[in-house]
Amino acid sequence: MPFAIEATDGSARAGRLTFRRTAPRKDGLHAGAESETSCFTTPRKDGLRPAAGRATPGAESDASSITIDTPVFMPVGTQATVKAITQEDLEEIGFRLILGNTYHLYLRPGEDVIREAGGIHNFMSWPFAVLTDSGGYQAFSLSENVKLADHGVIFRSHLDGSEHLFSPERTVAIQRAIGSDIMMPIDDCAPYPADEKRLKESLVRTHRWLAECKQHWLRDPRHQKLFGISQGGVNAALRAESARAVSDLDLPGYAIGGLSVGEPLEHFVPSLGAAIEHLPQHKPRYVMGVGTIPEILNGVELGVDMYDCVLPTRNARNGQVFTSTGKVNLRNLKHARSDDAIDGECGCKVCKKYSLGYIRHLHKQSEILGLMLSTYHNLYFMYGFMKNMRNAIIAGKFAEYRAHWLGIFK
Ligand SMILES: [Zn+2]
Repeated sequence: MPFAIEATDGSARAGRLTFRRTAPRKDGLHAGAESETSCFTTPRKDGLRPAAGRATPGAESDASSITIDTPVFMPVGTQATVKAITQEDLEEIGFRLILGNTYHLYLRPGEDVIREAGGIHNFMSWPFAVLTDSGGYQAFSLSENVKLADHGVIFRSHLDGSEHLFSPERTVAIQRAIGSDIMMPIDDCAPYPADEKRLKESLVRTHRWLAECKQHWLRDPRHQKLFGISQGGVNAALRAESARAVSDLDLPGYAIGGLSVGEPLEHFVPSLGAAIEHLPQHKPRYVMGVGTIPEILNGVELGVDMYDCVLPTRNARNGQVFTSTGKVNLRNLKHARSDDAIDGECGCKVCKKYSLGYIRHLHKQSEILGLMLSTYHNLYFMYGFMKNMRNAIIAGKFAEYRAHWLGIFK
C-alpha cells in the first residue's frame, strides 16, 4: 500500500495513504490486473448512485485511486452504517475511510448478501475506503459461550445462539466477501490484567494466526491489504517482541492491538512506545479502538497514523458533544433557553443553523434528529481536529497543538 510520509515533527508524522481498487466484473469473478481501470468512482455531481464498478462519466481526473491524509480518524460503521449520519454527510465532512465490523456484518446481513451486492462499497453506496476488523475481538466481547481454541475462536451468536468458528482462513474469506480495502487478521487479545504466561500465549497464537492469514490473503489479494497486529499487553518487552515478529512478515501496515482495554492511562504510552519502536518507519501504523482526544494526541506524538473509536458518535447519541472549549452535556438544564450554537467556533452546518437549546430539547424528547445533529457536529469536530493536527505537524508546531488540546480535554 503506497504510504508517503510528507512531514515529521519529532516522531509525529503527516502522511498520505493511497488506495486503489479494481472494478468488480459483472460475472462476479475478480478482474485481472490489466483491467484495473475504474476503481473508486467519484460521486456523481447530480447526487445519483454511480453504476456498480463503473467509472463515472465526467468524473474528476483520477478516479482510480483515493488518497487519505494521516493522521486519520476513522468513524466506526459497525453495521455498514455510521450510526445517525448519512454517507453523503460523511463525505461532505471530508471522511474517506471508515471502519466496518466483520462480526456484525457476518451475522447480519451475512457475507453472501454483501458479496452479491458487489461488496460493501456498492452495498452501502460508499465509494471510498473501508477497513474491517477480523471479528475476533467482538466475538469475544459480544457473543456467548466463546472458546479460544488453537485453530480459532468458537462462539455462539448473540442474536440466535447459533455456533460459529472464526479461524484465520474464515476471517480472511469473510473479509474478502465484504471487499474492504484493509483487512485485519484474527488475533488473541489478552484481557487486562493478564499475567505474563497469558500474554506469552497470546503472542504465540497471534503470530501463528497472522502467518496463516497472510497465506490465505496472498492466494487472492485483489485490492485488499492485510495489516499485521501486534499484542503484548502492558509488558514492554513482550510489546517489543511482538512488534518485531509481525514486522518480519512484511505486510502493508501494522496495528497495535490490546490497548485501551481497561489499563490505566500511565501504561498506555509506554506500551504503545515499546511497540512503535520496532515497527518499520515507512509503513502505516494503526492503534486499534483508540480515540479519546488525549490518546490520539499521545499516539500521534509517538508516530501512530490511524485511529478508530466509537466515542465521538456514541457520546453524541448520549447527548455529549466535543467543542473548542471541551465537552458539553447537551441535556444540562442550563442550556434550555440557549440561543447559541453548540460551539461558536465551529463551522459545521449544525452550528450554523440550530441552537443549543433546540438540540437539547430534541435529546430530552429522544427525537432522532437530536442524534443526527449531534453526531454530525462531533464527527465534523473530529475531522477538523485531525486536519488541524496534520497542519500543525507540517508547520513544526505539533507540541503547541498537543499542549493546547491536552489543556482542554484532560
Ligand atoms: Zn458544529
